Amino acid sequence: MARVLVLGGGFGGLASAAELRRTLPAEDEITVVASSDRFFVGFAKLWDLAGIRPLAEGSRSLENLRRHGIEFHHAEITHIDAATRTVETTEGTLTGDGMIVALGAGYRPDHTAMLGAPAYNLYDAAELPGIRGSLEQLDSGRVLVSILGAPYPCPPAPYEAALLVDEWLRARGRRDQVDVAVSTPQPLTLPVAGPDASGYLADRLAERDVTVLTEHEVQDIDHDTRTATFTDGTSVSWQLLLGVPAAAPPVVVAESGLAEPSGWIHPSRHSFATGAERVYAVGDCTAVPTAAAQLPKAGVFAEAAGTVAATNLAADLHGGDRASFDGQGYCFLELPGQQVATVRGNFYSEPKPDVRLTPPDHESFLAKQRWETERLESWLG
Ligand SMILES: Cc1cc2nc3c(=O)[nH]c(=O)nc-3n(C[C@H](O)[C@H](O)[C@H](O)COP(=O)(O)OP(=O)(O)OC[C@H]3O[C@@H](n4cnc5c(N)ncnc54)[C@H](O)[C@@H]3O)c2cc1C
Repeated sequence: MARVLVLGGGFGGLASAAELRRTLPAEDEITVVASSDRFFVGFAKLWDLAGIRPLAEGSRSLENLRRHGIEFHHAEITHIDAATRTVETTEGTLTGDGMIVALGAGYRPDHTAMLGAPAYNLYDAAELPGIRGSLEQLDSGRVLVSILGAPYPCPPAPYEAALLVDEWLRARGRRDQVDVAVSTPQPLTLPVAGPDASGYLADRLAERDVTVLTEHEVQDIDHDTRTATFTDGTSVSWQLLLGVPAAAPPVVVAESGLAEPSGWIHPSRHSFATGAERVYAVGDCTAVPTAAAQLPKAGVFAEAAGTVAATNLAADLHGGDRASFDGQGYCFLELPGQQVATVRGNFYSEPKPDVRLTPPDHESFLAKQRWETERLESWLG
């Protein structure tokens, strides 16, 4: 009997655990260790913010893993010893014959230090009630969605948030009094998807009178005067600021011995193996190099990597076929009126990712809804 530890109960961890359960003999034990007790897809936060659907309706308990023959250890991991595949947690010590690290990303502390109501962290589910309350009261001024640094998970999400806020304000007859803007330190809206997709998104934002300030890196956010000052000395005022901090590696990952000096794990980009025997790493806690800097931090890629890593770990333990990730993937781009465009292709292509944008339609919005339901049901139904 083999014992496998899956660290993290997000996209990468749940995809890994499901594939391990499908592949490993029934007597092998799979344990998911996570500090969170529920799972929801990232865009469920934006739908909650825009009043489309409460977050609770799109989330499932990780306790449901047990229905699928997977143990769930609800605890904070405080130390990882990769060589012995041992983790210390707030609820005891666990050791595995194999391990998949899928602990996601945290936030850059200097960015979160600039936030706090009325300048909210757009990506923090705990801040949604505050954001919704502020939106309700907003009848003048500006909503500034501010990308504070890169990389950050799901590159289109801040722009989608701006468009959802725009729709929300229009539906309430307040859009004429409230400006909507996005600031980013990057030169394009979606550098990872290239100039064509970026230009397409910029045009959709312009159509809705959403101002985009590229190459604007925030230096300071003043909560009293409600201004954001950029490194070039210019500033903009805001009534409600929705900040997106850059991603940072979790401390426990940075100190695991698996990570590079940057704190990120750099696994093989095809097998997701790390330098430690029978230890794999997937998802937002990794930095996987591509011609456009690195693979986007997105659930789609965390899931694909988790499935590949699980197949390879099962082969390490019992023999059998191995798997290799080829860089194929996609990102949804949600646009007004329940329309979704898709950016799809090979993110590993050289000299640049070979990705194409499929124009938006309502069928793709329905496909996005089904994509969420399928994952909630197959992993945690
Ligand atoms: C607003 C928004 C919209 C998004 N939309 C999309 C989209 O449309 N498509 C898409 O593909 N992606 C989207 N994403 C990105 C996607 O959510 C992430 O890329 C994805 O969740 C990464 O998966 P992961 O498994 O690497 O990490 P996560 O899903 O973040 O999971 C990390 C897990 O590790 C656990 N953990 C962390 N540290 C510890 C510790 N010390 N001890 C124990 N447990 C720990 C956490 O509790 C959690 O269970 C969106 C993100 C946001 C914020």
